[in-house]
This record gives sequence, structure tokens and C-alpha cells, in this order.
Amino acid sequence: MHAARLLMLLALCTAAPLHAAEAAHQHGSARLELVVEAHSLSLALDAPQDSLLGHERAPRTAAEQQAAQALLATLKAGATLWRLPPALQCQLRSAEVDAPMLQGGGRPGEHADVEARWQFDCRARVDGLRQLDLGPLLDAFPRLQQLQAQVAAPAGQYQASAKRPQRLLAWGR
Ligand SMILES: [Zn+2]
Repeated sequence: MHAARLLMLLALCTAAPLHAAEAAHQHGSARLELVVEAHSLSLALDAPQDSLLGHERAPRTAAEQQAAQALLATLKAGATLWRLPPALQCQLRSAEVDAPMLQGGGRPGEHADVEARWQFDCRARVDGLRQLDLGPLLDAFPRLQQLQAQVAAPAGQYQASAKRPQRLLAWGR
């Protein structure tokens, strides 16, 4: 009896970190990490695949395959997805997409995530940036309802969030 209870407790303890990870995985939402430096911006988006595509498995039909390829292409086109103020003269330097379930490496499970990272180099100083236009992102992903963001800038760290119909993410004001 005691041994069984101990085993159960152990099972609960090892399961705890998994539950924490699942709590962050919320359909309809996504997380964004933004690092602002003097002349560069790094963005990292972490979203449940469902928020971007409507399901969390590998594509099954030709139409689903096409939708998955379109999603990957949209994410790679960072300069279209993130409408940065033209005055900042930012150029996309790199874009990486990690979507195991859509790239052939996913293991079937209950949930799947998509991560994308973008690096922009900017001619103007961008460390005064206090807002980000979410319009193109929200238009590209109608299922995405809200975004939680963490911003790291020379002046400090900020938490920010936006929920439809809001189309602007603002921080540090
Ligand atoms: Zn999920």
C-alpha cells in the first residue's frame, strides 16, 4: 500500500514539468520573444500548431499538405509577416522555422508546436522601439486570438500582450 502510494507520488512529480509545458501551450494563443538591440531585432514566435493551422498532426490530404507548405512559406517570409517602420530600414537577415510535425520529424501526440525565429538588421537605431504592428500576423493566422510577449531591450525587460481586435503590441510606455 505504502509502496504503491510512493510510486504514485513519484509519477506525479515526474509528470509536473510536463503539465507546466502544457499550460503554456494554449490553442488560439502564441508567445513572442523580442530582443531589441541598437541596430537589430530578434523575434521568436512559439505557437501551438493549432493556432496557425487548425490541427496538430502531420498533413493527411493534398489540401492539408498545401496548407502546411503555405504556413512554412509565410513564416519564412519574415519581412512580410513583421511590418517594421520603414524609417528603421530593417532587412531580414535570417529566418528559421521549426515545425517538427510538418517537416517530417514529428511524433504523433496530443499536441504540436511551431517555432519560428527571425533576425533583422536595421540601419537606423531601433532600441527606441516601443510597439510592433501585429496586423500581418493576425491577418495571416485568423485562429490566432492573442499574443503574450516578452521584450528585452537595452532600457529593460517588459511583458506585453495583445488580444484581437488589438493589432498593436506596445511596451515600456
Ligand atoms: Zn495543442
